[in-house]
Amino acid sequence: MASGGPGEVDAAARAATDAFAGWRETTGTERKRLLHRVADLIEANGEEIALLETCDTGQPIRFMSKAAARAAENFRFFADRSETASDGLSLPASGHLNYTLRQPIGPVCIITPWNTPFMLSTWKMAPALAAGCTVVHKPAEWSPVTATRLAELVHEAGIPPGVVNVVNGIGETAGRALTEHPDIRAIGFVGDTRTGRAIMRQGAETLKRVHFELGGKNPVVVFADADLDRALDATVFMIYSLNGERCTSGSRVLVERTVYDDFIARLAERVKRIRLGNPFDPATELGPLIHPQHLEKVQSYVTAGRQEGATLIAGGRCPENAGAGNYFEATLFGDADRFMRIAREEVFGPFLTAIPFDTEQEALEVANDVDYGLAAYLWTSDVTRAHAFGQRLEAGMVWVNSENVRHLPTPFGGMKSSGIGRDGGDYSFDFYMETKNIDIALDRHPVPKLGK
Ligand code: NAD
Repeated sequence: MASGGPGEVDAAARAATDAFAGWRETTGTERKRLLHRVADLIEANGEEIALLETCDTGQPIRFMSKAAARAAENFRFFADRSETASDGLSLPASGHLNYTLRQPIGPVCIITPWNTPFMLSTWKMAPALAAGCTVVHKPAEWSPVTATRLAELVHEAGIPPGVVNVVNGIGETAGRALTEHPDIRAIGFVGDTRTGRAIMRQGAETLKRVHFELGGKNPVVVFADADLDRALDATVFMIYSLNGERCTSGSRVLVERTVYDDFIARLAERVKRIRLGNPFDPATELGPLIHPQHLEKVQSYVTAGRQEGATLIAGGRCPENAGAGNYFEATLFGDADRFMRIAREEVFGPFLTAIPFDTEQEALEVANDVDYGLAAYLWTSDVTRAHAFGQRLEAGMVWVNSENVRHLPTPFGGMKSSGIGRDGGDYSFDFYMETKNIDIALDRHPVPKLGK
């Protein structure tokens, strides 16, 4: 795969700038038609996209086929909003009419990570295009393949040249050049919190608008009064699906002490039975991790967990006879406390840390006592507690008695070190568009006269 540098970035940014005037003027109805056409093509090529994605990332095919469908859904959802993206408010005042409208901010860059690259790219790109922005996309260096395929489909759909541009390359070179480029108006970034900090510094000189979707250490809080069977299913799903390489993974499970031993014993049984193997096998639940460097990082947390005194209950090793590939067993640590690194830092792998709690107040303190604040999952049958506790959780998204079920009009994003801004529905347009106010005098009110 080519590795672009500042020269390629400049060419892409210029192409996006040149194409902007035409795309901005394209009617919402036409943009809608074109974006639906992209969705059609994604669906028609869904199997190929899923295979490419599995090949590139090691994500099990069972999840990647759904990711292609979800990517098409992202395009359809924002296609349908193209016609109303510029809508604003009417704010009448005495003698004046004020109204707002939204206009596309300009060429934007989208920088994406490697965990579910195709789906994430569509999630960022579809609203930008619906808003009337042109795009330069820099995919992660570990997973460049499907970004090129997406650009091909976008062009095949009839979206004009220059509206979508892809530059493959290393973060510190291609990514940096993009975030510093004077023609790029905004940065839609999904990735690590440390990279977000660097990007904010890089974009400061040209005053870039930023939208950050960063890391997480998301709690799953299980109260004794919950439907424990469903809580167990969801806990397992939210950390061991997508290889645990998922920003909204439930990577800490906080369990009320009265049911802790029983819940963890059942959890351990399930974890030991997770099917690790060839990601192209539809029966596989856990594939190889993306890169030897990432495997090393995940393994280092097994050492950390042991040294800190937590109990390794399941997994923790690379399986024997697994052949080539960064295979790593589904891993569960128990009896942890909130001060351990395995309870505070994002591992971003199939690695779950279980922590017992005695009271609701303690559960809340432990849940909130991390730098991150992306998602939280709450399991209880007490409706009052669900509301009160949910409102006090420091997380951008809270699911009660549910795994992560996305509804595209709802806001997606995190607080604290998990991000800045929200995606989804109209929230995306607030980022990709400028809100303008127009004030029209309806009368001949006295204008103050100076220097008469
Ligand atoms: P990363 O931050 O290392 O890389 C993400 C992207 O940033 C890549 O394209 C990379 O090339 C680029 N990049 C790196 N340095 C850069 C720089 N100085 N300037 C510009 N671009 C630069 O992240 P990753 O390891 O690819 O992905 C994993 C992280 O992504 C995890 O922390 C995960 O939680 C996060 N993530 C968050 C969400 C969310 O919605 N909150 C979704 C998926 C992943």
